Amino acid sequence: MKIGIPKEIVPGETRVGMIPALISAYKRDNHEIFVEQGAGVAATFSDKAYEAAGATIVSDAKKLFEMADLIVKVQPPKNEEARLFREGCAYIGYLAPLANPDVVKTFAARKITGFSMEFVPRITRAQSMDALSSMATIAGYKAVLIASDRIGKMFPLLMTAAGTITPATVLILGAGVAGLQAIATAKRLGAKVEAFDPRPAVKEQVKSLGAAFIEMEMPADAETAGGYAKELSPEFIKKEMEAISARLPKVNVVISTAQVFGKRAPILMTADMVKLLPAGSVIVDLAAEQGGNCELTEADKTVEKHGVTIVGAVNLPATIPVDASNMYARNVQNLFKNIYPKPDSPIDFEDEVNKGACITRNGEIVNEMIKNAVK
Ligand code: NAD
Repeated sequence: MKIGIPKEIVPGETRVGMIPALISAYKRDNHEIFVEQGAGVAATFSDKAYEAAGATIVSDAKKLFEMADLIVKVQPPKNEEARLFREGCAYIGYLAPLANPDVVKTFAARKITGFSMEFVPRITRAQSMDALSSMATIAGYKAVLIASDRIGKMFPLLMTAAGTITPATVLILGAGVAGLQAIATAKRLGAKVEAFDPRPAVKEQVKSLGAAFIEMEMPADAETAGGYAKELSPEFIKKEMEAISARLPKVNVVISTAQVFGKRAPILMTADMVKLLPAGSVIVDLAAEQGGNCELTEADKTVEKHGVTIVGAVNLPATIPVDASNMYARNVQNLFKNIYPKPDSPIDFEDEVNKGACITRNGEIVNEMIKNAVK
């Protein structure tokens, strides 16, 4: 199979879908790797490094799209890219099919077998293919570093000849993959950390990382069968906001990660609540792209409101391109192996992972939710 790796064209995207270290494994199964010139440069992987690993460098994306049996990307393709993909080829990468109905239609029209990294089922067997988790890990880590850089205070307790420095207090809202990594990172830096998440299993996870769990009456039915949070009632969110408000005057940093799959992120901090934070505090809102957990968040912008810096964090994994590409490319490789266990073997669409991740095939949109949304 000819596997093509184009250069990402979305501004600010530094990751790449294949790293040189993984090429030999594909080659062992007689696959050929074609990389667009400069595709890995922003992630420090030179054309020479790809060539040395056995890939062929192709001068432009159009040529690559004409020849590739499979295209591997990070960002969802633009429709103008998708139209250039060879008819009948396959695609593995982010697709954001709800946000990109035109691309989904182009995939179906061009009989492209499209696998979306966002739709890899979040089951134990598929953890090694789960790019949402690997990228959330990076985002949670980086969010804490951004906050520590923006705040005019150190994180650890220091007892020095020049006096005692009290530790920073970090509040984490939403302790899923990103939130748990943010807790671990803030703890390593010596901060006092507290967190809240409505899913019942999370309390123990938060405590096992050495953070305090904000106690409140938990919602009865907070989790879907797939382990995601459900959208909570306005009454619960009101109580949650009261509990958060009670903490805010003593907090220096808020990292918010709360999301509900397929919905706008819940607003957990109003403008009035921001005023409760001590001057100089920092909010890093990882839900910025889904509308933000703070009412004052502006996606992809850092704003100062009521003496508080609010970072509308977008695509933090792209700020750590080496490790993000490394993890993403391994997720792709593991999914690839699940889809194509042997060279030229037919794809098993009864397999839960292949079926879940596949959005288009044989000229049709095969995911019911996306099919209805695209209509
Ligand atoms: P996510 O990004 O969708 O949401 C982030 C967090 O926000 C979640 O923990 C959610 O509970 C929380 N949240 C939602 N509403 C909230 C509110 N009102 N207040 C505070 N927090 C709120 O979630 P995610 O991090 O991608 O994944 C969530 C969970 O899914 C994981 O922690 C894990 O349990 C499960 N998961 C399982 C696997 C697996 O078994 N293979 C893989 C990935 C994730």
